[in-house]
Amino acid sequence: MRVWEDKAYLFVGTLTLCVFDLVTEQWSLLRTTIQRGQPWPYSPIGPLGSYSTTVLDHKLYVFSGEDGQNIFMALDLLTNKWEHLSGTSDHHPNLSSPISRKIYIMYGCANRTQAALNQEPGGGENDYTYDDFWSYHVDNKKWTRERLRGSYPSSRTETACAFSDAMGRAVVYGGYHGSMSMIEMSLDNTRRLHTYAYFGDTFVYNPDTNIWQHVLVRGFPSYRATATLVSDPDTGKLYLYGGYNNSDYVPANHVSGRAYNDVWTLKLDLPGGHWNPEDLSRDLRAEKMGPWMRCFTCGNCGVTWQKCAGACGGKYYFCSKDCHRAGWKEHKEKHGCRKL
Ligand SMILES: [Zn+2]
Ligand SMILES: [Zn+2]
Repeated sequence: MRVWEDKAYLFVGTLTLCVFDLVTEQWSLLRTTIQRGQPWPYSPIGPLGSYSTTVLDHKLYVFSGEDGQNIFMALDLLTNKWEHLSGTSDHHPNLSSPISRKIYIMYGCANRTQAALNQEPGGGENDYTYDDFWSYHVDNKKWTRERLRGSYPSSRTETACAFSDAMGRAVVYGGYHGSMSMIEMSLDNTRRLHTYAYFGDTFVYNPDTNIWQHVLVRGFPSYRATATLVSDPDTGKLYLYGGYNNSDYVPANHVSGRAYNDVWTLKLDLPGGHWNPEDLSRDLRAEKMGPWMRCFTCGNCGVTWQKCAGACGGKYYFCSKDCHRAGWKEHKEKHGCRKL
């Protein structure tokens, strides 16, 4: 959903949008039209998923969606009229188009395994994850392939992203890669092969210099895809919410997929980034490293560490009885913990 003025707009692939009025807290339907002579490029039935949207000025832009389309459309929210800017719903790969005031499109995924299941053209054994980065110039209506410079994210899809006006940076978090091989080694030397990956890394992009930076964080939300990242227009604060993972990738009690409902803020050492140097005085050994806990005594990372059963309420973890004993004095003095 995208917010413009006092309303949140939900595009579902059809000419009718769902609108939530943020003042009256009421839902309504918005019926729109498309410019004369332009056919509606999506399936008229809907609903559509896996597209990207953004708002610039008074227009809602929509890119792609299921079926591997590279459709790019704009809905003028003053006139409720669509304009089809580029792209088609053909299944043929089109290499000449993707696949100041700019809209950026980055990476994404051709869901070839789903196409194979549906016996559609373009199907294959693996999904294809894109590695290209494009900008659309709103004023001269042209696509440009951008060079990836600096420490840019690896190719992926289902990332969370937001543009922070306060910092002048785009922020990207996490995502998914459908055909990346990764060997996971546990502390007991067991190995597991994953043929996909979920990410938990953070990147910022400066459109003025065209440079990406990998943000080194002290603690981070767990690896996940389809999280939502928003920049509060009033305070400039960045919030991350939700997303999903599966229980094979991150050990969990849940049998099937795992949906997150946690909220995080990101503070960056940049003007407008809500940076507070005092945060660095927090004990690194109490930071949450995605799904992993750290042992307060030795700093090791793992998932089965025992919570302290003392008065700290289990805020600190220890990997063994020996570590609990060895770190107990410091934990008691530093955090005022005591035996219950
Ligand atoms: Zn330990
Ligand atoms: Zn304790």
